[in-house]
This record gives sequence, C-alpha cells and structure tokens, in this order.
Amino acid sequence: MLEAPKRISLDEWDALYAELIVAGLNEPSYGGPLRRHVTDGDYRLLKLQFDNSAAALRLWNFLLTEEDRLHKARAAGQKIIGTMKDLGTVPVMAFASPRLTAFYPDGAWWLPCVMEMSTSDLAIADQLGIDESFCPVRAMLGAFVNGEHFPVPDLLVCSAGAVCDDFSAIAQRLEGLGHSILWWEVPHRRVPDADEERVKLPGGFIAPRSQVRWVKSELERVLYALQGIAGEPITEELLSHGIRSANRARTALRELRQLAYSAPVCPLPALEMLIAEMLIIHFCSDREETILVLEELLAEVRERVKNGVGVLPLNNARIFWVNPVADLRIMNALENFGGRVCGTEYLFCHALDPIPENLDPLEALAQMALADPMVGPAAQRAERICRDAQAFGAEAVLISRIPGASHCATEGGVMRDIIEVRLGLPVLELETPPLCDALLPSMRTRMEALIETVKERRGNENKV
Ligand code: SF4
Repeated sequence: MLEAPKRISLDEWDALYAELIVAGLNEPSYGGPLRRHVTDGDYRLLKLQFDNSAAALRLWNFLLTEEDRLHKARAAGQKIIGTMKDLGTVPVMAFASPRLTAFYPDGAWWLPCVMEMSTSDLAIADQLGIDESFCPVRAMLGAFVNGEHFPVPDLLVCSAGAVCDDFSAIAQRLEGLGHSILWWEVPHRRVPDADEERVKLPGGFIAPRSQVRWVKSELERVLYALQGIAGEPITEELLSHGIRSANRARTALRELRQLAYSAPVCPLPALEMLIAEMLIIHFCSDREETILVLEELLAEVRERVKNGVGVLPLNNARIFWVNPVADLRIMNALENFGGRVCGTEYLFCHALDPIPENLDPLEALAQMALADPMVGPAAQRAERICRDAQAFGAEAVLISRIPGASHCATEGGVMRDIIEVRLGLPVLELETPPLCDALLPSMRTRMEALIETVKERRGNENKV
C-alpha cells in the first residue's frame, strides 16, 4: 500500500498505477492501467471514484476483462455455458467440469451504464419489442443480437417458474430468435402444510421437502445436459469439489462483508463491495481467479481494519442497501452525501450462504436454489433484510428501485412497511436509472434527507 486508503478518480489512478509499477506491482495476465478500458468503450469509468488499493485494481481489471476471458476460453476449446436468471446455482455445477466455462448473460444489465449508452444493445431490444417498460436486463437481448460483448454460448440454461415477468419475457423472446434454451423450473417457495415434511434451507427459509425433491429432479436434467456438452460425466466427486471451491469464494466474501459493513471506519468503498458481491453469482467466468481476487481484497481489508483506517469519515450514516443499482455512480454518490453502506441485499443473498457439504451435491444445490429470496414472498425477503440490517447495525434502509422491473412495482412498499414496523428504521425508496447524472440533484436531496434523519435520531438517542 503506497498511500493511505481513499477513493480516487481515474486520472489519479493513472498516476498511482505508474507508482505501483515502479514499486514492483505484480499483476495477473489481465492486469494493466484502468484507463485502457475507457478506450474499449467503458466511458462510465471517467465519472467514478475508485478505491486506491492494488487489490481493487485487480478486482476492476478482472471484471472489465470478462469478454476477453470468454473468447480465450472458447479458443482454448472450453465449452461456454450461459446461465441465465438463476443466481448462483447452475454456475457451481458448470464449473465442476474442467471442460466448461459458465458466464452470466444477464450481466449485460450494466452495459448501458458502463458504456454510457454507446452501444446498440437497448436500441436493438426496442426494435424487438422489449422497450423501456422492461428492466435494464433487456440489454442482454441486444448483446445476443449484435454479438459485441460475449460469444454465443454452446448451451443456454435459464430458470423458469418463480422468476420475474421481465426475465421470462426477455428469455422467451431470445429463444424465439433461435437461441435454444434449456429451461429448468424453480417453484414459488411456499410455507409447508402442517402435516408436510419440511426442510430448513441454508439462510433460514423453510420449504416443503417435496419442493426440494422437485428442484433436485430439475437440476438432474441440467446436469445431464451439461455432461452432454462437456462430453464426459460430471461425477459426484467433481460436483462436491465444485461446491467446496464455491464455498471457499463464499467464505472470503462473507468475511469481507462482515468487516466492510461492521468495522467502525469503513475500510472499502461501496462500489468495490458491490463488484465483489456480484462475482459470487457466476465467478466472472473464472472460478479460481474469483477466489484469488476476493482473498486479496480480504487481505487488504483485514489490514485496514487492523490499522483502524478507511475511506470515509467515521460518522457517515450507516445505510443498508436493497437491490442492485442500474448506475454504479450511485454507490459513490451515497458516500459523497454522507452515507456508508452497512449491509446489502442485492437479490442474491442465497449465493452468499455456504452450500451444505454434508449432503448429496444436487440435494444441496436444490436447497440453495429454493433459498433464493426472489422465489418466495416479499415478506420473507424483508425478514432476512431485517435480520441482516440489525446484525450490521444499520441506521436506515435504502431500497433502490430498478426502472421497469416488474417486481419493484409493489415489492418495495411491502418490504418498506415490514422494515419500518420491525426495526423502526427510516426507509427510502429511490429509483435509479442506468445513467443517473441528470437526476443526481434530486436524488441528492432525497439521500441527504435520509442521512439527516439518521443523524437527528442519533442526537435524540444521545439526549435520552
Ligand atoms: S426485473 Fe428484477 S429480478 Fe427480473 S431481471 Fe430485472 S432486476 Fe432481475
């Protein structure tokens, strides 16, 4: 670490990168200055603030080189599996085979933001009848058509059943364009009847045993298809090894979250934490490297916490953040306005929990799939948010509404009511478009009002 931890601009990273190189920075093959990604069209980087550690540099470079990695994997003879909608289950199965590389086409969600609308993805989606009344994941459709972002997968797998209307409609449109999809069903997680055998899922939700059995049978179909593409069996031993590797990544991320969201001084900015969390659902096309990236970040954060140093003022309001943001810049903005992220629920908290290693691998993965917060009632999702917000000592909750997202129309209100009653915390719902620049002044007013409320409440507590 050459400098004290802080958030810096891309210009400042140029100078710091040169210093790090002189100091002997040892980078992986995808390393290099962040500036080069702007040349590739990632213009949003010009407006972001970044953590100034070498670990964060590696994280960003890893994220922003995924397209190259996928093309290289194909050239090396790997079969490419596109795992859609399911967040964190099928990628664990695919990476169990040394011949398969999985990625997450839904990640195109962020293309309009990262490339500042400079690609044709959304325009193509519009032409295909998937307009802005759908969530930003519609950019995926454009990405498949223009072929500019990822290779067309050898197999596309998509979960169906208890998934949002947006994704169902978009994936069906994709199939209509000739991209064959292997659908597997996750039912809506329901409360077991009184006389029904029940299973406590990882993370704490309860489901009927019959639903776990059903999802397991669906995953058996997926496994069969993956084996067909791999050209060899994915044995129980390989699956168990895949689960252990996924758990190693999850363990690093859990400690990282614990430290980042609970240390007195915030050791890592919300933006880098968001990227780190996203890696866990699909490993950014390289499971082993994901583990190393997360472990290096964790080492950096441990060191900062040990030294009591961080990137934000001590008294920033502690905000629990719900839903991923369409514009990455919002994560910077919250911190600039006096906030600090203390806990998150980015739609995939089930992918943070350890996968049971003492069960049949497909049974364990079926339990994980059913533990997805989005396949059950919003009230259950709110329960987990309350539990985690309390554990991280959050002082307010911000529910970021995703433009066009079908579930956001009512879910935010349901969760807000439960959180306010259970925790008595102020809750703000805030819609974040893929590029928030024009709305930033009004968003600022609303975020600052939330932060002032937190600080007033602190003052009132001190008076009691
Ligand atoms: S509507 Fe929500 S859950 Fe569905 S794809 Fe968009 S962000 Fe994901």
